[in-house]
Amino acid sequence: MSRKPLSFATRAIHAGYNASDNDGALNPPVYMTSTYCFDSVEQGAARFAGEAEGHVYSRLSNPTQAVLEERLANLEDAEAGLATASGMGAITAALWTLVGPGDTVLADETLYGCTFAYFEHGLKRFGVNVRFVDCTDLDAVAKALDETTRVVYFESPVNPNMRVIDIAAVSRLAHGHNPDIQVMVDNTYCTPALQRPLTLGADLVVHSATKYLGGHGDLIAGAVVGRKEIIDQIRLYGLKDMTGAVISPMTAFLILRGLKTLELRMERHSDNAQALAEWLVKHPEVESVYFPGLPDSPYHALAKDQMARPGGMIALELRGGFDAGVRFMNRLKLVKRAVSLGDAETLCQHPASMTHSTYTPEERAEHGISEGLVRISVGLETIGDVIADIEQALAG
Ligand SMILES: *Cc1c(COP(=O)(O)O)cnc(C)c1O
Repeated sequence: MSRKPLSFATRAIHAGYNASDNDGALNPPVYMTSTYCFDSVEQGAARFAGEAEGHVYSRLSNPTQAVLEERLANLEDAEAGLATASGMGAITAALWTLVGPGDTVLADETLYGCTFAYFEHGLKRFGVNVRFVDCTDLDAVAKALDETTRVVYFESPVNPNMRVIDIAAVSRLAHGHNPDIQVMVDNTYCTPALQRPLTLGADLVVHSATKYLGGHGDLIAGAVVGRKEIIDQIRLYGLKDMTGAVISPMTAFLILRGLKTLELRMERHSDNAQALAEWLVKHPEVESVYFPGLPDSPYHALAKDQMARPGGMIALELRGGFDAGVRFMNRLKLVKRAVSLGDAETLCQHPASMTHSTYTPEERAEHGISEGLVRISVGLETIGDVIADIEQALAG
């Protein structure tokens, strides 16, 4: 008997959980426990030795967390997953596991502000080389790969300037150079509903689950998914010993709840962002709109290839530059001035003074983040209401 594989939306609701194993509870129980009782010393010893299945202590594993990890791995087409206390917890746990002094991380030139700070001020302090290169320039990537390269790291679309990086091409280049290089993609902007980097050749995917995966702006969490062997190492070293960035079972539960509507939400975010971007490009006060769903975006064709939809993030520049951006943002009423993204509410922020203030002005210029850039995370409201607010703010 052959069975049709379950669709993404169905797996986002069901994968990794069986009600019959849990007293019939429709939703996974929240196991608020720090430790687990052993029937005997021998059983405890076997669990510690990895010779028997079972939980030991919640810095290593927890049943609610395990449901989330299995569901995320399933959605990303990965063998295994690890949920963490934050996106930065996932990124740091993975990298502390994979690299050591003398190794090189080859990273895209533009990264989420705290990822940049960790690379520039964390990894480098401990003897790891970090080499920044424009990953949309494949020749530059090819030239930068050398015998010390252990990890190639990038986001796509890139936060905050919306460049799109060819995941398959960069993975091919890296693995052609050395099959052991770990290609690591931050998939926060897309989620697996829109883009699955592992199916394009990447080795590891990291997430800030704080954003679209949770989807409701009520938690901080992260995840990393990939091959089981590597995820096991990240759990044992990066998470257990080095960062301790453990997710709360309650937070894991809330993400599982958010995931049930992930596909629906990503469709609505994308439709809303498309409508807003098309409206913004026609506005006389708007200098540029960065959104891969616009037909004249330089990344339109690539985005169509590797993303199911263009997503919900827009960056723009106003004709009056930085000052006009500040005036515009201060006049917003319905749209909230806030960092973070992926929530039901439309959020607007100024990367140079907020999320990317971890870069010095000189570093921002070098790393492709302009001072006047305004970033909008388009929410789930009726888009006409959002456009009306933005229209009155631009009129000021
Ligand atoms: C927010 C964010 C992070 C960091 O995640 P936290 O959950 O805030 O620790 C990493 N990458 C991207 C692209 C983000 O937007």
